[in-house]
Amino acid sequence: MSNNRYTYTELTDDISAFSSQYPHIPVFSIGKSLEGRSIYAIKPGHGSRRLFFSGAYHGTEHLTAKVLVTFAHRLASGEYAAHINLDDTSLYIVPMVNPDGVEIAAGGVYWQANARGVDINHNFDALWALSKETEAAHGANAPGPTRYGGEYPESEPETKAIADFTRQNSFDAVMALHSQGEVIYYDFCGLVPDGTEKYLEAFESVSRYRRAMPEGIAAYGGYKDWFIKKYKKPGFTVEIGLGENPLPMSDFDEVFSGVLPILLAAAKQSAI
Ligand SMILES: [Zn+2]
Repeated sequence: MSNNRYTYTELTDDISAFSSQYPHIPVFSIGKSLEGRSIYAIKPGHGSRRLFFSGAYHGTEHLTAKVLVTFAHRLASGEYAAHINLDDTSLYIVPMVNPDGVEIAAGGVYWQANARGVDINHNFDALWALSKETEAAHGANAPGPTRYGGEYPESEPETKAIADFTRQNSFDAVMALHSQGEVIYYDFCGLVPDGTEKYLEAFESVSRYRRAMPEGIAAYGGYKDWFIKKYKKPGFTVEIGLGENPLPMSDFDEVFSGVLPILLAAAKQSAI
């Protein structure tokens, strides 16, 4: 454990503090990780438009979880009332998809995968077989710290929990936070769902983040890839911050203020 990381322990503390402070906002677990940690969800709002924010798919990307928990907390406190109307929008927030990976990485090793060495963001059913074919070229055809896609799509409890949660709720748009690069991925192999452009224009007008197209193995098997392929609705991967993973905790304030306008714009856009 490192004081320079946002860990599962801190998430758990923040989740219980959130529950006691805002008892009217649902907080629940959508499943358990391989090692039995809860995959928490927070659901502010009660509108018919549904937006899903998720983070920490990758072990070293702890700051994405802290961004989402902080966002949920400030949203609940009413700080964003001028930006988000919780009567017409429901937000579903899963700050830490891969708590085991975050804990492993907090020990100081480079670890993006889950506890079994499967990269959750290569384990979704979106050209998964093609992702498998290219694994060897990346030295990732066996369980390990990064990029190994598992034995079959949704083989991992974390992937399954997110996919089930998505199947159970009709999200109008989804945003998966990763780090780093200050770029936004928005297509799946050239497929760009209707409505995507409006989001991108909003994101680029309120932030310094810019749209980008992924290449090679990064283009397959991810959550937003699967969401776009299956639902043909806007889905985004937002790479927060700049630097080298894991981004240090000291970057938090700057990273948060950089990505906040995008989160607010997404919530606003989904309500249009
Ligand atoms: Zn990532």
